[in-house]
Amino acid sequence: MSLYTVNNVNQVTIGGLSATQLARQYGTPLQVFDVTMIRNQIQAFQKEFEDRGIRGIVSYASKAFSCKAIYQVVKQEHAHSDVVSGGEIATALAAGFPSTSLSFHGNNKSLAELNFAVQKGVGTIILDNFHELELLDQVLNENNTQIDVLLRVTPGVSAHTHSYIQTGQTDSKFGFDIDSGQALKAMRLSQNNPRIHLRGIHAHIGSQIFEVTGFKLEVKKLVNLLTNWSQKYQFTADILNIGGGFGIKYTHADDPLAPELLLGEILDELQVQYSKLGQPIPTIWIEPGRSIVGPAGFSLYTIGSRKDVPGLSPYVAVDGGMGDNIRPALYQADYEAVLAENPNQPPIETVRLAGKFCESGDILINHLPLPTTKTGDVLVMLATGAYGYSMASNYNRNPRPAVVFAENSQAQLVIQRETYADMIQNDLDY
Ligand SMILES: *Cc1c(COP(=O)(O)O)cnc(C)c1O
Repeated sequence: MSLYTVNNVNQVTIGGLSATQLARQYGTPLQVFDVTMIRNQIQAFQKEFEDRGIRGIVSYASKAFSCKAIYQVVKQEHAHSDVVSGGEIATALAAGFPSTSLSFHGNNKSLAELNFAVQKGVGTIILDNFHELELLDQVLNENNTQIDVLLRVTPGVSAHTHSYIQTGQTDSKFGFDIDSGQALKAMRLSQNNPRIHLRGIHAHIGSQIFEVTGFKLEVKKLVNLLTNWSQKYQFTADILNIGGGFGIKYTHADDPLAPELLLGEILDELQVQYSKLGQPIPTIWIEPGRSIVGPAGFSLYTIGSRKDVPGLSPYVAVDGGMGDNIRPALYQADYEAVLAENPNQPPIETVRLAGKFCESGDILINHLPLPTTKTGDVLVMLATGAYGYSMASNYNRNPRPAVVFAENSQAQLVIQRETYADMIQNDLDY
């Protein structure tokens, strides 16, 4: 599986369009999404449910990349969306996304955010802690209304890219702990609250997960919990939300199972669990973020300066960096990049791809093999669609890039490039 495609004149293409052309038309730094890839991934997840006759909901975790256009694509694909702030709710609603298909997550939702969510008709609150239960009760009373709720539980399983750990005592800022009885207490309180419609439970065990082992442990624990609750407390869940975290390929060193195949294995495990119990499977929700937008996103940069240091690998600098993609600086995330023209030429050197921000740590790629490059060449960084633009900042007062959606050889600007005026508009004189 290659991380990019080329046309017959050996140019990198995105959504059928040449990356060089896109850079020329919209300028750099530029974030481009191949919308067909986004649609295909959502549909591939949906097909895994359909193939097994399991009712399933794909809820796009929009913190991975949030703007009006992405909510519109998700809506067109009949998927739901997760939101984690009032701002994401407002963006989804501005896009015409149905409020009932939103689920609101977060470990510290404010009273104002809960009020906003309830008044705007957000479909589901994923309840995280006892403080929030009190706030939600207050908001529902004040608005004289009711709402669907899932309880976020911590199953004591946390998965990492290539491994998983099972912790006896769950150490996480999110959710109600199962083993200590917090989850049970939250369930009983919700069950007895006439304004809360407790529909089921939710868990999320990590991100960029490659292996099914952690997920299997998770669903075993969740199914056990629900079985216990239905036998002892007459609570029958009709929704089981197993979270997101499906891993993607960032570089050639990564070799993940396709995200939909990982989901397929989890669904098979759920079928085994429920057939042992002789019970029907509840509606299964998943919350993929990275796997939906990550591989579909490409960052286009223009090469500027170069610094050669005798005996060390050269620095090649581009016109973006940690302001539009903080992941390498924040957690040593690895990426690959290729020239937009003739990306397959054999490399002649290994460079450090440097950003333009005033931090020594602003290195986008530490070991990047490249052919001969010159100032003005367009470089395409691959699989940058998740947690890149959504974490962008105005550090050094650099404007955030424009974002373009490309599909079937058509390009459309979906976020304008920020201007200096945009950045200054909230500043007041003193
Ligand atoms: C971040 C998050 C997701 C999405 O995770 P990905 O790794 O992007 O798939 C899903 N659910 C919850 C609760 C999250 O916090």
